[in-house]
Amino acid sequence: MGVMEIDQITVGVLQSNSYIVFDRESREGLIIDAGGEPQKIIHRVEEEGVEIKGIYATHCHFDHILAVGELRKMFGCKFYIHRADELILERSVEDAETYLGLSSFDPPKPDGYIDDGDEIEVGGNVLKVLHTPGHTPGSISYVFDGGVFTGDLLFAGSIGRTDMFGGDIKLLMESIIEKLFKLPDHYTIYPGHGPTSTIGIEKRFNPYVGVEGVLRDRFS
Ligand SMILES: [Zn+2]
Ligand SMILES: [Zn+2]
Repeated sequence: MGVMEIDQITVGVLQSNSYIVFDRESREGLIIDAGGEPQKIIHRVEEEGVEIKGIYATHCHFDHILAVGELRKMFGCKFYIHRADELILERSVEDAETYLGLSSFDPPKPDGYIDDGDEIEVGGNVLKVLHTPGHTPGSISYVFDGGVFTGDLLFAGSIGRTDMFGGDIKLLMESIIEKLFKLPDHYTIYPGHGPTSTIGIEKRFNPYVGVEGVLRDRFS
């Protein structure tokens, strides 16, 4: 197994994290979320000398997919989502207009779909797909040996909002407690916004879903 490198790049008005995940030896890699500023992401990919094999969305809100079209063209790779976020992808047009005044955003059509249990191979390393709905119906977490990309499901000290179209607080709680919190405590969390954390820290101290979290009694 190779050594997996992770570059975090913060992009766009909502400061979304885009991740370049690649193998140190072979320089084969992929991108998880691309929410804006394509040039910034392309620049980092070139700097690292990574060959991008695919773009994977944690979910399809515009702040995670806005740059996908340009990157896909640039790298000649495919774009994958969970099928249950198809409608969210369509509706990203409206959100792009509301938040950014962009009237001409054309959401990128997915080239393929991924689902719970799928394994994505990247330069000898494996990312496992966990379907973790709640923030959106098709939200996905990507688990590897040592960490997990959580999208807008779980943040350092916070949780994803569920008041937008397709959000479901009960599902979100289930995804976090039944799926993410079953991972080892030392696993690093790479969220869709903000800094990293660990499963252990969030289990103990997260003010919403931690052991003394305000939402914990209502859903367990
Ligand atoms: Zn989101
Ligand atoms: Zn987001």
